Amino acid sequence: AKAAGGNRFELADPEADARAITRHGLTTALPTALDRGEFFIEYQPLVHLGDGSVRGAEALVRWLHPQHGVLSPDRFIPLAEHTGLIVPLGRWVLEQSVRQARAWRDANGGEELGPLRINVNLSPCQLTHPGLVQDTVEILERTGVTPDALCLEVTESALIGADDDLLKPLRRLAEMGVDIALDDFGTGYSNLANLRRLPVSVLKLDRSFTQSMQQFPADPVDLKIVEGIVSLAHSLDLAVTVEGVETGAQAEQLRILGCDTAQGWYYARPGPPERLHDLALVDATG
Ligand code: C2E
Ligand code: CA
Ligand code: CA
Ligand code: CA
Repeated sequence: AKAAGGNRFELADPEADARAITRHGLTTALPTALDRGEFFIEYQPLVHLGDGSVRGAEALVRWLHPQHGVLSPDRFIPLAEHTGLIVPLGRWVLEQSVRQARAWRDANGGEELGPLRINVNLSPCQLTHPGLVQDTVEILERTGVTPDALCLEVTESALIGADDDLLKPLRRLAEMGVDIALDDFGTGYSNLANLRRLPVSVLKLDRSFTQSMQQFPADPVDLKIVEGIVSLAHSLDLAVTVEGVETGAQAEQLRILGCDTAQGWYYARPGPPERLHDLALVDATG
């Protein structure tokens, strides 16, 4: 809200009103948006820090709203979680993304595009939904994509204090060969020793760490923290992915610190699937 200089008695907040109206409108339109085909997915490449090759992509959902245009997931995922639409929406995203991974493979004459894998975000609501494992198995079978081409991203905060019931479906998926990544890692105050208990194989270091690598010299405490996380992760056989890499300097710093893969605007913004295909093909052919 525009705090009108020193006017402490201003009661109306037109911007907050507008936000509330929009939120109300979105909540009303959300349940049918899936049936109307208003969601679409953008893909952002995951790049190997050592050799710069494209190793996979993260699927990021968007809503093409008839009045408001393209809405980012931060605007509607919380609403979808609140209304329960996240379960069918999440299943749709998973199916579309795995189909896309299959299409990338087919477009390359059935050859794997190198180790091109697909990362899909899971909401905590999907984790507690009983159909998760079965839906995932069915989608993989229907599309003929092997489990090791799929990585499911779960936020660190969703797993803090997780009991065995919550971990069971993730364990089953991990046993099948699906990778589980701990998203936004480093923001959730989780007990590092707890990592051993979780069926995860990838840590996705939160963007805040990447941002602190922008200053030169980088914050020495952050450097030490990242160094510590990477060495702990590697000693537990976990790979480390970094998010939000926007500059070559950040990429270089994070590579030196031992991070394995990176994602960010420096490499590519999220975009249509064709672009990822082109990037990976360019890569595969040198
Ligand atoms: P996330 O999983 O942490 O995804 C990374 C976010 O960082 C994405 O935002 C991405 O576009 C953005 N990003 C990538 N590179 C850069 C960079 O270099 N700089 C900056 N500043 N940002 C970068 P996006 O697409 O708006 O997604 C926001 C969040 O919405 C995601 O955060 C994820 O938590 C959630 N989300 C997206 N798609 C899905 C989905 O299909 N299901 C669920 N449950 N959540 C989703
Ligand atoms: Ca993610
Ligand atoms: Ca993240
Ligand atoms: Ca995030």
